[in-house]
Formats: sequence, structure tokens, C-alpha cells
Amino acid sequence: MRPILLTAFVLGLIPANAGDLAVETYVIGVTPQIDGALLLGGQARANAVLQAGGIRVDWKRGRPQSAPTGLERTRLTIEIVSSAPDSASPTALATTTSTSIRLFWDRLTPLMRTHPQADRAILGHVMAHEILHALEGPGSHEDEGLMKATWTREDLKKMQRTQLAFGPHTADER
Ligand SMILES: [Zn+2]
Repeated sequence: MRPILLTAFVLGLIPANAGDLAVETYVIGVTPQIDGALLLGGQARANAVLQAGGIRVDWKRGRPQSAPTGLERTRLTIEIVSSAPDSASPTALATTTSTSIRLFWDRLTPLMRTHPQADRAILGHVMAHEILHALEGPGSHEDEGLMKATWTREDLKKMQRTQLAFGPHTADER
């Protein structure tokens, strides 16, 4: 169970104090065969995207052994599974709770195939999008940018050369 107060504290931090929130993200499992460079490249892109919003992601392997220390630190697990379960909504790329993310590789692959040059960028943006959902909840979609519910072809193309911003009010060309 996750204390609600901590979530509220985390929420308050995101826009206010850049660099103040650290997210330990444990990769607890990868079922499909994924090129290691693609996975690491995706993680690096997720870091870059989230850093622009003051969130630092520390990537770790395996399951967390102890509780996180410090209020400004939060902890998530991420798992990549080969296929989406029947219970997943038909267009979802992942299911995400406040503590865990499960990415569906069978749905990510076609998306990455549409822009092969941007596969790491797309994976990174999906990871960053889901990490923000974990921190902010399912209602954190925006009209533009990283937290758009559905990205257009233009968005996917844009990820290759730059990164999508958190919301419509943030400069997204960097
Ligand atoms: Zn979403």
C-alpha cells in the first residue's frame, strides 16, 4: 500500500523544484528478446525527457531489496512483457499503477517499426510517459507533448530529433 501523503508530496514537487525528485526504476523483467542497446538507449532517452521536468531516473536491475529512503525519492518497477494481457484496453501500450509499469512489447514494436530511426526515442518517450503516469496518476494526459493520450505520426517523427515536452505551456524545442 502506498501512502497518499507521499503521492501528494511528489505531485507538488514536479512543477516547483527542478531536479528535486529522484525515481528509482527497477527493471524487474524483460520477457521478449530485446536488443540491449535498444533498451539502454530507451532508458537514456527517458532520462533526458524527464530531466527536462526536474525528474531524475536512477535505473536499476532486479527487484528492490529495501524501502526507499527520503521523501523526495520514489520507487517503481518496470517489466517488459511479450504480449498484452486480454484485460488490457485495446490501445494501451502499458498498464501502470503508482508503483509498477508493465510495457507490452507486441504493441510497442509496430509503433517503433513505423519510424525505425526513432526506435530508442519512441521507447524512451513511452517509458517517460508511463513513469509520469505512475507519479501523477491516470488522469495526467495533456493535449500536447509527452502526456498526449495518443501520439500522431508527427509526434513520433519529432521524437527522433528532439523530445516532447511535458505540456502545452513548456517550450518543446531544445
Ligand atoms: Zn497515457
